[in-house]
Amino acid sequence: MPERFDHYMARANAAYYATHDPFADFTTAPEISQVFGEICGAWAQIAWTMLGAPPDIMFAEAGPGRGTLMADALRAWPAPAVHFIETSPRLRAEQAQRVPHAIWHDSLAGIPDQPLILIANEFLDALPVRQFIRHESGWLERHVENAAYLDLPTEHPLPDDPPGSIREVNESALSFVRDLACRNAIALIIDYGPAQTAPGSSVQAIAQGRPADPLQAPGTADITAHVDFSSLAAAAREAGAEVQGPVKQYAFLTACGLFQRMDALARRHPARAAELRRAADRLTAPEAMGSLFKVLALCPKGFPTLPGFP
Ligand code: SAH
Repeated sequence: MPERFDHYMARANAAYYATHDPFADFTTAPEISQVFGEICGAWAQIAWTMLGAPPDIMFAEAGPGRGTLMADALRAWPAPAVHFIETSPRLRAEQAQRVPHAIWHDSLAGIPDQPLILIANEFLDALPVRQFIRHESGWLERHVENAAYLDLPTEHPLPDDPPGSIREVNESALSFVRDLACRNAIALIIDYGPAQTAPGSSVQAIAQGRPADPLQAPGTADITAHVDFSSLAAAAREAGAEVQGPVKQYAFLTACGLFQRMDALARRHPARAAELRRAADRLTAPEAMGSLFKVLALCPKGFPTLPGFP
């Protein structure tokens, strides 16, 4: 039976995150420097103040990985309640070592309906995408059967791209931002992908630290796709939210004082100065994470400009 590509990707990634240590395969910003999580925490505290400092605020993170970002963020802002959206039991256990008082949920729907500030770093790229291929005859949708692609007719409406084009639609990511918008949440979404929707396949798989074939041995590789920030922004606006950004990670972190924090740390720990400079470079250099990674904020309509956004 052919399986729709997004269903395949969801199944493969659920198996991967349940059985593997993803950080053996890739490194994320919070694992590069504590300053990344500290900036997210300071940002969240300012956003909370701008909301009028509601005492029943919930500080949430989607896809917290090892829990590093939140542990660092809570040093900057010891928020009263911490909620994690995480499906992997294995990663939940790791997160509990760093943030023992967190409350875990399988999805956003589990978080109580109270004022919410949410951070998601490299979460949406792991959610499954549908892939559509433009053939001479029209659009087909990508399926998987016996470890091979199979393109089948689709009713899904798509722009009139030339034959050979590929379009990706991340329905889980779109409904995630719509749900955040409906809750009037403030969200900081950090991920890799273009600011403007780009045609083409961005699906990639990484196994044991190396590029892999996404169709081989599902559950042994991390399968990701670029995040389409302009579609997310449009979905959030349609659902009644305002968006700020996307801006490049370089611009966001610089405006939030990354270099000043790094300098302050280097003065206190001179032996670590070179390592801190390398970390700052990795997070901000255009050929590293500075340019491909984007930062998008969601907030209620009419909300003032959040830190890090022009
Ligand atoms: N934010 C972390 C980890 C990124 S890896 C960091 O920056 O280091 C992706 C994270 O999302 C993992 O914690 C993974 O288990 C989680 N995840 C992936 N798909 C998910 C889903 N559908 N629902 C909830 N969590 C998911």
